Amino acid sequence: MTDAREDYSDIRDAVAKLCARFPGAYWRALDRDMAYPSQFVEALTQSGWLAALIPEAYGGAGLPLSAGAAILEEIHRSGGNAGACHAQMYTMGTLLRHGSQAQKQAYLPGIADGSLRLQAFGVTEPSSGTDTGALRTTAKRDGDDFVVTGQKIWTSRAEHSDLMILLARTSAPEGGKATSGLSVLLVDMREAVGNGLTIRPIRTMMNHATTEVFFDGLRVPAANLIGQEGRGFRYILSGMNAERILIAAECVGDAKWFTERSVDYAKARAVFGRPIGQNQGVQFPVAKAYANMRAAELMVREALRLYEAGENPGAEANMAKMLAADASFEAANVCVQTHGGFGFAQDYDVERKFRETRLYQVAPISTNLILSYLAEHVLGLPRSY
Ligand SMILES: Cc1cc2nc3c(=O)[nH]c(=O)nc-3n(C[C@H](O)[C@H](O)[C@H](O)COP(=O)(O)OP(=O)(O)OC[C@H]3O[C@@H](n4cnc5c(N)ncnc54)[C@H](O)[C@@H]3O)c2cc1C
Repeated sequence: MTDAREDYSDIRDAVAKLCARFPGAYWRALDRDMAYPSQFVEALTQSGWLAALIPEAYGGAGLPLSAGAAILEEIHRSGGNAGACHAQMYTMGTLLRHGSQAQKQAYLPGIADGSLRLQAFGVTEPSSGTDTGALRTTAKRDGDDFVVTGQKIWTSRAEHSDLMILLARTSAPEGGKATSGLSVLLVDMREAVGNGLTIRPIRTMMNHATTEVFFDGLRVPAANLIGQEGRGFRYILSGMNAERILIAAECVGDAKWFTERSVDYAKARAVFGRPIGQNQGVQFPVAKAYANMRAAELMVREALRLYEAGENPGAEANMAKMLAADASFEAANVCVQTHGGFGFAQDYDVERKFRETRLYQVAPISTNLILSYLAEHVLGLPRSY
């Protein structure tokens, strides 16, 4: 039995070895072409790392969340980016926790062996943004199907996924609760594209295969409803702690990569006849970023500990994500500064990773929303919105 205190050095070593086959030049070329890291994702899939959290009964490794965190941290620490596939690791949690036995049998073994990709997650919409209760995509029951109409935005990896977890409105909100009446559908995109589903890529600051998705009368079998109709928001929420903790682990990995790069460069680069790293003006920001990373790492471990003890660590998962995203962006900024002009040169990977780690201030949840969660739910301050 493993737990959150375990360091998973075997897993880390094996993931680092795999990542060494995909060096900076690999990621730089993809970044330039805005291309999907298919070979890397294939290698991770074949090694079973993306099936780490799927129970053994369905063909996965049945490892705890802390093992998933170690895998994703190591990918980011190596200079790579797990954003192209991390959702394959955790999106299945909605199906695992709330799906029927028949749905789990039908899909989880394929997700575990990688023949089925479930890594698209359609929640955010252009007009509602963070206000999920205001989403407008509807799924209306018609015989044995739901008919889906509406639009999602920022649906990442939709072009590289077979299945999508979709949150849509199936009935009007009840009792003034905007998030009631939402349901989760498992959409099989292989049959849907061109038959009521259109996917359009969005080009972004960093190479992230994100899209907008249009539903125009798409028919989804009612058998693909996950759990009970109208309770979908609850199901989506229940997966958010895991997602936040795993993203926080990626940020810790980024922060470690940036700090290692800062230290190496500060030792090697000599100006005014001595290494720049001999100057406290260069050392201190690097040391401070390191201390902040370590503090964030402790919060990630605390969130993992509570999660694995079966608790609901909403506050710790949110704090871990916020502190780790802040630590990674601080370390990124310091790394650019330490490298001087070379911080902007593509060949050093620093500017690429800087752009990549900036995302986590906004997605999957923005810093302000974490702060307002803490203010309201932990500190008892009045709800602000
Ligand atoms: C690259 C990328 C990938 C993504 N992938 C996915 C995905 O796969 N699936 C998916 O469903 N979504 C995805 N998202 C969406 C992401 O979760 C949202 O962008 C994020 O939650 C913020 O929502 P928004 O963009 O609508 O911002 P908005 O809700 O419009 O907010 C804009 C700004 O205003 C602030 N703000 C809003 N309301 C308040 C308030 N009450 N108090 C204080 N500040 C406030 C926010 O903090 C934010 O900084 C992705 C986004 C990006 C950029």
